[in-house]
Amino acid sequence: MARRKAAGTPSLRVLFATSEIAPWVKTGGLGDVASALPAALAAQGHGVRVLVPGYPALLAAFPDRMRIASIGHIAGAMLPADLSSVRLDNGVTLLLLECPGYYERLGGPYQDRTGQDWPDNVLRFGLLSKAAALLASTASPLDWRPQVLHCNDWQTALAPAYLHYRLQPVAASVVTIHNLAFRGLFPHAAIASLDLPPESFVIDGVEFHGHLSFLKAGLQFGDRITTVSPTYAREICEHIHGFGLDGLLRHRHTVLSGILNGVDPVEWNPATDTLIDRNYNLDTLDAKATNKAGLRKRLGLLADASAPVLGMVSRMTHQKGCDLVIAAAEPLLEQGAQFAVLGSGESLMEEAWRKLAERHPGAVGVRIGFDESLAHMVEAGSDVFLMPSRFEPCGLNQMYSLAYGTPPVVRATGGLADTVVDLTGPTRKDGSANGFTFRDATAPALLQSVQRAIDAWRDAPLWREIQRNGMARDFSWRHAVQPYVDLYRQLTGA
Ligand code: ADP
Repeated sequence: MARRKAAGTPSLRVLFATSEIAPWVKTGGLGDVASALPAALAAQGHGVRVLVPGYPALLAAFPDRMRIASIGHIAGAMLPADLSSVRLDNGVTLLLLECPGYYERLGGPYQDRTGQDWPDNVLRFGLLSKAAALLASTASPLDWRPQVLHCNDWQTALAPAYLHYRLQPVAASVVTIHNLAFRGLFPHAAIASLDLPPESFVIDGVEFHGHLSFLKAGLQFGDRITTVSPTYAREICEHIHGFGLDGLLRHRHTVLSGILNGVDPVEWNPATDTLIDRNYNLDTLDAKATNKAGLRKRLGLLADASAPVLGMVSRMTHQKGCDLVIAAAEPLLEQGAQFAVLGSGESLMEEAWRKLAERHPGAVGVRIGFDESLAHMVEAGSDVFLMPSRFEPCGLNQMYSLAYGTPPVVRATGGLADTVVDLTGPTRKDGSANGFTFRDATAPALLQSVQRAIDAWRDAPLWREIQRNGMARDFSWRHAVQPYVDLYRQLTGA
């Protein structure tokens, strides 16, 4: 991506703190955002450094990284760490927080290989938060000083509390909620090992119903709070979606805003995607059929011209409404639909999908696990994408499916409501219809919406219109980055 600086405006210095970053360490949307948003900022000429733990995948990817500082003097019970640096081709600098005792483990960033949370997560992400705060303070060991510290989710949300209680900030802080469900809750006793003062454990501090909450701390002390879609920003202020933090969010509503995520224009573009069988664009949609055939082959689905393929790539959880799809599956199969499902999560849901695939060989293809290239093939090869989330802060998969000409069926909540326009008479007429939405989180409501989608799919000219409407809208970070730049400028007075 060519780099350019907006004429006449000074570039910004941003420290982006994150617990995952694609393609090296990713469990969900945060990993994608942590990779693409800094890249989009760098492409505009801003100076962006991304602080991330030195997980094995990152250390292996960058053997030539440079050690630039030691941050061994961090107090509390946390282990000392080193900071190393590597500059990516896209202009972003990665700052790896190297602490072998915390981050060099086999397993995921938050859990071991059996799905259990690492027992020392409080210290692992306490260290990450403290390091982020340190680099945004007068005590930083680096000459480079950010103007904005951008924290993401609970794993880095304790940083503003350190800036409040322990350090002199040089940067304004932004805390972005990618998913309010994960509040980073730990026992009260942890505050001593984290080097937080006893007086921080109050309702106006880091305390949350008798526990320490990393996310609450960020929402309390962050200069600005953002979440990843305008609708979710409104929803989290309501009791039903607030996870007990809605009162605080209502209190801080003047500094809360919703900024829709973007899509990585390089990784998720059907015209250039290297992980799909055949590239295509808005004018060559017939080529999508090659991907449908390839997807069927990979998942053991029968070639049947009359069968729509319903795709899903998702964490298999209650949040994602995976159970609703399972409950609606049999009637859809009876109508001749096929399923292409990729995901992992709650064992009961994984088991239900396995059983469904056993009962319907050739019609239900399921891959339990995390598989980046199959995820791209599901987006490119399915006819319809399913995303019936009970709540959805932003959701990336529905944007990928729009970009890939695979109209989504979604529940109208959060970022899904902000991106998917239901097919109705008026939306067809004004050219905005790009998918199908429903309101109630029930299997019959989902079923009805999928049936509407299948009916539309059987009407080829109508289907092309819906596909093209989705593909024509630019969801890329090239556009989505601007509200962040505006926010940073407001904060720095630049
Ligand atoms: P969330 O972050 O809540 O899981 P998003 O839709 O925002 O949901 O982002 C999910 C991201 O993770 C997408 O990039 C999606 O393709 C990817 N993903 C989820 N499950 C899998 C999987 N089993 N294999 C590959 N990619 C997956």
